[in-house]
Amino acid sequence: MSESNLSDNVLRAMTDDGAFRVLTVRTTDTVRRMLRAQSVWGAPAERLGELLTGAVLLRETMAPTHRLQSILRSPDGKTRWVIDSHPDGGTRGLLTRADPETVGPIAGGTLEVVRTLYNGELHRGVVAVPDGGGVSESFMVYLQTSEQVASMLAVACVLGEDRVVAAGGYLVQLLPEVGRGPLAIMAERLRDFQAPGQLLSDTDAATSPLLDELLYGMPFTRLEERPVEWKCQCSALRVISSLSTLPKADISALIEAGRPIELCCDFCAETYTVSPSQLSGLLEQS
Ligand SMILES: [Zn+2]
Repeated sequence: MSESNLSDNVLRAMTDDGAFRVLTVRTTDTVRRMLRAQSVWGAPAERLGELLTGAVLLRETMAPTHRLQSILRSPDGKTRWVIDSHPDGGTRGLLTRADPETVGPIAGGTLEVVRTLYNGELHRGVVAVPDGGGVSESFMVYLQTSEQVASMLAVACVLGEDRVVAAGGYLVQLLPEVGRGPLAIMAERLRDFQAPGQLLSDTDAATSPLLDELLYGMPFTRLEERPVEWKCQCSALRVISSLSTLPKADISALIEAGRPIELCCDFCAETYTVSPSQLSGLLEQS
């Protein structure tokens, strides 16, 4: 099968009765790039793809002009799935394991969402992964708890033998000023789309047909389309400033060793070389 010529994006719409806001997202290429950079595959990779998709939907609905991170933790905290999504659509992800051979379960774990508020402060919310639930259900619990807006969210990441077949999802929210009347009808309608993996595979996760499926027979208006892409935010400067959290004695020891040190970005595996003089600069600043 050839690579498709679709590109990742988020599409927004509103039902004409003013009751629902709907977002559909395609993340196939973004997930593909992330999994390549992370060299992960199988079930842990599917969770990472789903987490990325949910994080993009959440940022687009809660904080489109701000950064949002989401972190899924196994119950023992030894496995973490991390997504970092930025307002330009640039999104990256990471799987960390205390023991590289072992990936923990998400059942019994937690989902944390960290977002930057309009005043620049960070807001953190943590919810438990619900019993028998996956990434979609965890995001729904989060939205219910922190936003108190009736929301239905489903994400899926479908992996083939050696490629990402499709990744994407949707978010439907009842607008706050509307009574809860239409909610039951929408919930019934979305029952068929709770596990959208097959539909996404069939449609290459394209956002416009997904919207048509979700809102079949319901008048709605397409509003805006925004890009999504895999992008790492690292730079030599950021890597060097990350060292400033080290104790001064440790930095001095590195300088005395007189050799450049190599640092690797955990998200994209880019290697940065930091010279002793750059390290000295760090000591002077602090
Ligand atoms: Zn990087």
